[in-house]
Amino acid sequence: MPAMDMRTLFHMSLNGAAFVVCVTGLLFTFIQRRTEKLQNKLYVLLVSIVALNSLSMTVCEACIPYSKESDAAYLVVRIMDYLYFVLHTALCPLFFIYVKQVCGGQRFRWQSRTALSSLFVVTELLVILNPLFHLVYYYEDRAFTRSWGEYLVYVGAGVYLFLAVFKLLRSWKAVTAKRRTALIYFYAMVMIGLGIQFINIEYKVELFAEALALLGVMIAIESEDDRIDIDTGLYNRKALQADLNSYINSRRGLYVICIKVTNAEVVSRMAGSENSDLISQVISGYLKSVAQRDHIYNTNPDTFIILLPDIKAPDAFEYAKHLSDRFEKTWTIGDGEVLLNAYVMASDVPGRIKKPADAFYMADSPVPANLDKKVLIGSDLDYLLRRAAVEAALSRGLEQGYFEVFYQPTYYLSGERLHGAEALLRLHDSILGNVYPDEFIPIAEQIGLIDPIDDFVFREVCAFVKSGIPAKYGLECINVNLSVIECMRPDFVRRINNVAEETGIDKGMINFEITESIAASDYKQLSSVVSALKADGFSFSMDDYGTGYSNMQAIFSLDFDVVKIDKSILWSAESSELGRIILENSVRMIQQMKREILVEGVETREQIEMLSDLSVDYLQGYYFSKPIPKGDFIQLLEHQRR
Ligand code: C2E
Ligand code: CA
Ligand code: CA
Repeated sequence: MPAMDMRTLFHMSLNGAAFVVCVTGLLFTFIQRRTEKLQNKLYVLLVSIVALNSLSMTVCEACIPYSKESDAAYLVVRIMDYLYFVLHTALCPLFFIYVKQVCGGQRFRWQSRTALSSLFVVTELLVILNPLFHLVYYYEDRAFTRSWGEYLVYVGAGVYLFLAVFKLLRSWKAVTAKRRTALIYFYAMVMIGLGIQFINIEYKVELFAEALALLGVMIAIESEDDRIDIDTGLYNRKALQADLNSYINSRRGLYVICIKVTNAEVVSRMAGSENSDLISQVISGYLKSVAQRDHIYNTNPDTFIILLPDIKAPDAFEYAKHLSDRFEKTWTIGDGEVLLNAYVMASDVPGRIKKPADAFYMADSPVPANLDKKVLIGSDLDYLLRRAAVEAALSRGLEQGYFEVFYQPTYYLSGERLHGAEALLRLHDSILGNVYPDEFIPIAEQIGLIDPIDDFVFREVCAFVKSGIPAKYGLECINVNLSVIECMRPDFVRRINNVAEETGIDKGMINFEITESIAASDYKQLSSVVSALKADGFSFSMDDYGTGYSNMQAIFSLDFDVVKIDKSILWSAESSELGRIILENSVRMIQQMKREILVEGVETREQIEMLSDLSVDYLQGYYFSKPIPKGDFIQLLEHQRR
């Protein structure tokens, strides 16, 4: 019996190593439970084939030296060769389907499907029937010998590899760089392996090359750590971006369903702050029961997206309705039951959503208040178009100078004497016409344009104060609205002081208004901003008192000079007994805290009489004047003096 020679040992180790590499790939795929998607399943199949091939080749190599003498060894060699060919012929076609999946594939038309599967069927049949016809290989003197059929099998494999490369090139833009690199590495390795073995059958490196190539694929494509959120197990923004891109590039129609929970913050505050993640987890658990896990994304803490490929409008609506109905019922969060408020939107690709950014726009934009529907589809989503138009108007306004500061006078309670004015911003857009701050300020805050806007207002007001007109007519101050977001900027205090000092105004002439509805987390920082600016000579008003649900103690620990009672409080004091009690007691409480009081929204003589009884300090409202352009305001000052 011949001893095992170097050549045999070399081939056994090479194939053994390929086997170990494959098993490693399989092990980690299962440990990390990446077996749900079709893509994952294909990968497992690919690696399994290479693993079995390596195993059969290792056994085969071990038997070859004995096969001349031993019939048993010869039989094993033949079985192992046969197994190898049967499985390996399926590898390249499967790989092609895998690449199609990774690149976001459209279904093939039946003609292409038939052509492609016939090639596979022919080569596979040649191999399967080889024991009968010996068209692929045969044994001469018990030694493996290639027949013409094997070249055909190679050509078949080459065609599928070529198609896979072609698919990658066509989807180039839709595939992330990481995936591209992994696929190119795979092609290169397989080509080199196939090439070497094709030229000389004595160098059996093919399987080892394939095993390594598949390991690379696992690391870069199958491992999705950067695509998945650990807490919810859902795909993240990055994944949505990539997946939408590949759908859009392959021109595949689909619906993007967006679920926006609007009261999660309130609910989690009620349920204890550590529960905010619980809400996401409970919702994601539910979503996994109604959609394939690999089609669910979590883009923002309260926003979920589901992709529904190849679905028609009525079905998309039904689906959205079904999701929305679930939110009519309670959810179990921790030990308690809560009701969550949610809007469900359904938008189609390529209709309303033409690029991934459009889907993110829907996910990121707040739903307008006072909508009467919970399921939004088709023209219900036009608010997104309006919002986009306002965003464009804001940029245009800043560039072309379409913003204008209006002034609305404030009066002493007596109603005769002017006290000051509030600066209120207007946008006269060339396309949208007049746009009002209630609409554009929240949008400006969201898209990061509030800084230049508030800066513009402050500079305008400083210039007005500097002109000496307000002082000449005895105004005590001009009020400037500040966005809380802006106050939180690290260099805010310095920036304000710089502008004031540049223009050389009396800082006492500026009163900043900050809204009452501030998030609890912001108090500390805000408090230091208020103290610093007050120390520099500015004064402060608390705006919109009575509209938020703020922590009273925290809000009054901020050092405000004036509290502005919101118009809604005044108006309901007129119409209901309860409203009157709230107004009276608010006034009394604020007076006890030694803050001055301004009531806004004064529109009638009766309101002034009611407020006189309560002896508040200042009044503001349409009864006296609407916000008016600076020129008109100066005329009003002139008129009042006479
Ligand atoms: P706000 O600070 O509460 O301003 C008062 C709003 O009430 C103004 O609306 C004003 O026109 C309106 N108003 C005043 N008196 C009456 C009245 O008697 N009846 C009625 N029905 N309304 C009255 P406007 O100008 O549309 O401003 C809306 C909000 O936009 C402001 O609410 C403020 O929060 C924000 N805003 C306005 N200008 C600026 C600005 O320059 N910067 C910032 N950050 N926000 C601004
Ligand atoms: Ca204000
Ligand atoms: Ca106000």
